[in-house]
Amino acid sequence: MSLSTINTGLGFINTINAHIALASTKWCTILHKTAAKLVHKRRFFFLLGSLSTLLLSSTLFFHNLKNKLLLTRNKKALRDRRKAFTRSLYKIELHCHLTGSLRLSTLNELLKSHNLPPYTPPPTLTLKSCFTAFPHIHSAIKTVQNLSRVTFECLADLSYANVIYAEIRTTPRALLNSTKSEYIETVLSCFSEWSLGDSKLLPRLIISVDRSKPVSEAYENVKIAVEKFNHPSNKCLVGIDLGGDPTKGSFIDFLPVLTLARTSGLKITVHCGEIINPSEIDEILNFRPDRLGHFLTCTDEQFERARDNEIPIEVCPTSNLLTLGLNSDSVSLKTRHGTLRKCIETAASFSISTDDPGLFRTNPVRELWSVSKAFELDEWRIAGVVWDMVDQVFEGNRKTRAYLARDVRVRIKKMLRVLEEEGGTEK
Ligand SMILES: [Zn+2]
Repeated sequence: MSLSTINTGLGFINTINAHIALASTKWCTILHKTAAKLVHKRRFFFLLGSLSTLLLSSTLFFHNLKNKLLLTRNKKALRDRRKAFTRSLYKIELHCHLTGSLRLSTLNELLKSHNLPPYTPPPTLTLKSCFTAFPHIHSAIKTVQNLSRVTFECLADLSYANVIYAEIRTTPRALLNSTKSEYIETVLSCFSEWSLGDSKLLPRLIISVDRSKPVSEAYENVKIAVEKFNHPSNKCLVGIDLGGDPTKGSFIDFLPVLTLARTSGLKITVHCGEIINPSEIDEILNFRPDRLGHFLTCTDEQFERARDNEIPIEVCPTSNLLTLGLNSDSVSLKTRHGTLRKCIETAASFSISTDDPGLFRTNPVRELWSVSKAFELDEWRIAGVVWDMVDQVFEGNRKTRAYLARDVRVRIKKMLRVLEEEGGTEK
């Protein structure tokens, strides 16, 4: 119900109440006159009783309705205030796939430019239906120019959501007349160019390894990553991700290549627990990656292991609900996303991210807000989630990390101070 509707309703009730008061006065006058005539008749008392009951019940009815509308208006105002707060926070994005962030309009423009038929998104979101977009995305991003456009648009969308630090991941592939290495160079040069502009957003790159492909490809990607990471000019490349179809490949086969990446100084994040596979989750936990992606199907013991080993969990609410085959609503998020609930209820370290914002029609504000709404987090707790995310970034430069922490946390403090001054402390 919108605020204007509620206000109209309240205005209407006030008018009704005024009419009732006026009617009461009129009826009293009429009664007085009638009483003079009927004073000796018993019907007068019956009429008087019925009329009083009617007036009293009408007044009570409208009084209750008014209170209900006032309560709804206050709740709506509180919700709007928290939503605006979520939007204004400086945010951090830690799990975003570059190609999964592609705008639908851009996808179809690029397809058209390659004389390919347009992509029609599925009417309802399911994990399977969303993933039908990937062959179209691959056909659309054919050249390094296409890749540059997609990269800049991804950064622009994150910046619009007030994200000031983003780790974006992508699996390199050879495009038209270019190599995998040039793919990475293109993304990195877009990041560098972006960083020269006015935006506060600091983009960082994680190179993905696809577990459904041969391990030799993983070595190829990690080799490129190590080479770029060790280059003196490197500022943006920070880590390696293991992802892809969780039903294919096995973590243990990728262990040596991930170990190589780690010993070279790269941070590691692993997509984990997207399907039920407890023994693989144990293998991943034994490796102790720097972060875990999703971590949905873990047991209580595995969750506690991750928490006790201080491995942050990358929670992506919309994506996770789709993976779990659940509806994207607050009830599902609160009651059936076990990992998120445990993260909220315990001292586990976690972040809120988008995964594939283009495919899942979401953005960082919406993801953070969905968590706030489901768990009824007030502004202090919403800010707390973002505050903690500062410590989970892969950024290796101490100064940059310190600036980031200062920017995020100073803004949080200012926003909470303003809220306190305005008396916005009610829950
Ligand atoms: Zn992912």
